[in-house]
Amino acid sequence: MTPEPRQHPILPTYGGSALADLSASVGASLGVPDYPNVLGFDSARRACILLVDGLGWEQLRANPAAAPFLSELALNSRALTAGFPSTTVTSLGSLCTGTPPGQHGMLGYQVAVPGENRLLNGLRWDSRVDPQRWQPQPTIYQRAVDAGIAAFHVAQGSFRGSGLTNALMRGAEYLAADSMGALAARACMALNDNPRALVVVYHADLDGVGHVFGAGSDAWRKQLAHVNKLAEHLAGDLPAGASLYVTGDHGMVDIGAEDRIDLDFEPALREGVALLGGEPRARHVYARPGAAAEVLAAWREVLGDRAWVLSRDEAIKEGWFGPVDAGMTERIGDVVAAAAGNTALVATRTEPRESALFGMHGSLTPSEQLIPGLVFTAI
Ligand SMILES: [Zn+2]
Repeated sequence: MTPEPRQHPILPTYGGSALADLSASVGASLGVPDYPNVLGFDSARRACILLVDGLGWEQLRANPAAAPFLSELALNSRALTAGFPSTTVTSLGSLCTGTPPGQHGMLGYQVAVPGENRLLNGLRWDSRVDPQRWQPQPTIYQRAVDAGIAAFHVAQGSFRGSGLTNALMRGAEYLAADSMGALAARACMALNDNPRALVVVYHADLDGVGHVFGAGSDAWRKQLAHVNKLAEHLAGDLPAGASLYVTGDHGMVDIGAEDRIDLDFEPALREGVALLGGEPRARHVYARPGAAAEVLAAWREVLGDRAWVLSRDEAIKEGWFGPVDAGMTERIGDVVAAAAGNTALVATRTEPRESALFGMHGSLTPSEQLIPGLVFTAI
């Protein structure tokens, strides 16, 4: 176990420059009522948001040669914060509703279904959970359509009809695109065929490459070069006056063998725990009735400087999830642990697939929390 210098967490800047503020500001720039334009985007009739899964600000800035177009945009753009946890389910919630996690309720990769003693995996979903009730906020697509703006979500066809899609992409016309070329072509057609349009393009593969090979690895950089090309194609075919926004849902950190704490072999961290949620960089720990204080004390004691460990109330008070609606509180762990440094809180027996990954994300370090907020406007 390598001692790590004490860091400070990067807290999400909800209401200022978080991912939710990007989509709300884009919505406002298109004329969707009631969205605040806190990022001050110019008004436009058409906009495209390219969400690159796993594209962190620090990783982009560290690899300018692999992504010349995006890196040039980064010179005149700003970093945003993803939100907590910095994971796809949560960030898609923020992007697709323009609200922070405490309001859309997509509070992590795996969260407890209150009163059911089981976890909901947000990516795989569960047919017993109604997506519309689980995520009650109107989506940016619904609100755009209500304002007379055509709204499209362009992504891999296999995601269509999933619980996550039904929770977050309600109101969008789903355009299936299973390749980089198809993503660019279908998005550009939607933008050019409609006088007012909101188009969100979602690309998944950079995250997958980072999980296996590491962020900044040769494979990751080569994949980033393809993403750079995708952004260039989108920018090149934008109608005049339309804007392209390029962002990510989180960054990533690489986890060495010595950085892994295996919760399946740490009895002190399982004592009093009913359900272990979240993922290795961001854990929701659900205690047995009456055991929350003991679990909190044990996690603090054992993890020390290797994680920021807060009670549910403290995490809410610190603003990790933004303002939390009453109905969402119970989805948050009694104890919330955000990994510091390169530590990962794996569980090799119960989560063998997730625990085997090399690149991971979820926590509040700059490598994970900072994401690009790039803007390109066609003249
Ligand atoms: Zn991921």
